[in-house]
Amino acid sequence: MKNRDCTAEQKDKDYIWHPFTQMQDWVKEEQLVIAAGEGIKLIDTQGREYFDGVSSLWLNVHGHRKQAIDQAIIGQLDKIAHSTMLGLANVPSAELAEQLVAIAPAGLARVFYSDSGSTAVEIAVKMAYQYWQLKGRKQKKQFVTLTNAYHGDTIGSVSVGGIDLFHRIFQPLLFQTIHAPSPSCYHCTLGDNPQQCGMACAQRLHDILAERHDEIAAVVVEPLVQGAAGILTQPEGFLRRLRQWTKEYDVLLIVDEVATGFGRTGKMFACEHEGVNPDIMTMAKGITAGYLPLAATLTTAEIYNAFLGGQQEQKTFFHGHSYTGNPLACAAALANLRVFREEKVLASLPAKIAAARASLAPFREMLHVGDVRQCGLIMGIELVEDKISKTPYRGEGALTMGDRVCRQARRAGLIIRPLGDVIVFMPPLASTPDQIKEMLAIIQRSVASVTD
Ligand code: PMP
Repeated sequence: MKNRDCTAEQKDKDYIWHPFTQMQDWVKEEQLVIAAGEGIKLIDTQGREYFDGVSSLWLNVHGHRKQAIDQAIIGQLDKIAHSTMLGLANVPSAELAEQLVAIAPAGLARVFYSDSGSTAVEIAVKMAYQYWQLKGRKQKKQFVTLTNAYHGDTIGSVSVGGIDLFHRIFQPLLFQTIHAPSPSCYHCTLGDNPQQCGMACAQRLHDILAERHDEIAAVVVEPLVQGAAGILTQPEGFLRRLRQWTKEYDVLLIVDEVATGFGRTGKMFACEHEGVNPDIMTMAKGITAGYLPLAATLTTAEIYNAFLGGQQEQKTFFHGHSYTGNPLACAAALANLRVFREEKVLASLPAKIAAARASLAPFREMLHVGDVRQCGLIMGIELVEDKISKTPYRGEGALTMGDRVCRQARRAGLIIRPLGDVIVFMPPLASTPDQIKEMLAIIQRSVASVTD
């Protein structure tokens, strides 16, 4: 056993280039190699168990080794793993498209498949652009994006994103967008106070739309919460206003539900909290319950119809990937939706969200916790050097304070990852209220021991 562990870890260090990772540091340190999973636990090659506090990067829904999903994939393997959607259809992708349209906000009627959140956003952007070209409104080719947005790492999705640390270097390769301020109450630079928020951030968006709608194709937004920016929650009503104004000014609304979809916020999709029906919606991550790569971009009949008929080279949407509509992934997604229905997953969430809220309350009293943000089972705990002035930690050496807390939590049996000095906690939806309390207790002890 020991030998095999060393081999896997060493081979990883010898051959793999990890995402978002300074590899010089990675290869120097001992790394955890995951060998198995069971429920909401991950098990390493030494047999040690850890809570999966980030849902294996914000996507695991029903836990690992969920029988219903394992069996659905095995069942599909007995038929076929993959064909192509170029010139052919397949059974699971057709079944799934029907079900996605049924659960999506009203008006979304067509499904375009791809394989990651980034590609789903890339497709949304291209679709919106071509739509206006086909409608003869050729000047409508700008996108409005929020500062600190994150929509993925391909060039198009980076263009509509705004995380300076990740994307600064690629600036010359990107298309320009119109930036509106991020609606982040704790960090508000617009003079608003969350208790009596006049939502100056939304007003800025309104002004942009009012002045420049003739050249704007779409607004792209993460609904309710900007995840990768550090779990920045939006004031209630922000998305709803954005929907009203985009309609008023004839601008498309692209809602990126890649992180928020499939129950994460307490409803199937975050848009539902604000009664918003977008023109284009992206989904990925939880679509297969965190099992296999799959994404979908959903759009309205109005947009789809604009691409029909005429001269084929002008109206066709020229986009696709080799694994588009992969039957194995679609079978996993169908099983995921079945589990949602049969196990009444959405109905189980309020108790879990309430347990999380109760366990988060004491964090607010901690000396170095500046802000605690929660949107369903998406949570962020922002650490600061000085609470009154909101002064961030300066960072000593290669490790941020967030890194140090997460390392401490790992020693106590919980895997979490920070975003700078924001501790991100996104447990699988299958976690029980008691497990959520236990995981948050580990985080609280870790914050206390590292920051005090
Ligand atoms: N959009 C949002 C809102 C996301 O949070 C992410 C990933 N965290 C993406 C898009 C990109 O998804 P992927 O990593 O699957 O490309």
